[in-house]
Amino acid sequence: MRKKIVAGNWKMNNDLDQTIDLIKELKSAISKTEVDIMIAPSFPFLKVAFDLTENTNIEVISQNVNENNSGAFTGEVSVKMLKSIGLSTTLIGHSERRALYYENDDLLLKKINFALENEMNVIFCFGEELSDRKSGKYFEVIKNQLDNTIIKLKSNQLKNIVLAYEPVWAIGTGETATADQAQEMHSYIRSYISERFNLEVAQNISILYGGSVKPINASEIFSKADVDGGLIGGAALNSSDFLKIIEANT
Ligand code: PEP
Repeated sequence: MRKKIVAGNWKMNNDLDQTIDLIKELKSAISKTEVDIMIAPSFPFLKVAFDLTENTNIEVISQNVNENNSGAFTGEVSVKMLKSIGLSTTLIGHSERRALYYENDDLLLKKINFALENEMNVIFCFGEELSDRKSGKYFEVIKNQLDNTIIKLKSNQLKNIVLAYEPVWAIGTGETATADQAQEMHSYIRSYISERFNLEVAQNISILYGGSVKPINASEIFSKADVDGGLIGGAALNSSDFLKIIEANT
């Protein structure tokens, strides 16, 4: 059975006090739930966040990781460092990393492989641009992104991967894919994984939707058969909104 997940990507928001406050608010309100809850605070606060969430059902994850073991990579953070403070999952390939820091599929595949080889789970993000959606080429674009990355892995590696379909035109824009658009793409992705690997791999992989998920649209999106949860940006910075979104996935 694949997992239901709601993950909050805090991006470059929240200082130390705000990080602690937000975690405390979440902790005090989250009760037992079948949903895996994840939060991705900024690097400087990961250890504090990890300690604060120990023995809760909130997993602290990283927003990014480097593809090398260690060395002269100024400003970068390694898998080993993240693991040494207790983390076991990282985002890779967020559209902001792709657009603002020029991370391409080749690099992302290196990151995925390095993380998996070093026993770190991956939430791999991908999605089409507005122009791809408008030109009707969005399936082709997604197929390409998967061909260059996930499809190059071995099927047993997919056990440790969660996919996050995030149409770039819906990230931080307030414009959401409709539930039907999300389902159409998730179903395409799952069929594609099934074709390239097998049905069991496809049935077991969680596929999250990301792009302006809010309390008001979360239930409808999560009700779709191939949507296993969400990667949440803006709404994850507000505990009440994030809690409602988690609730919508139960
Ligand atoms: C994201 O950054 O992954 C995201 C989905 O952001 P938002 O929810 O703000 O659109």
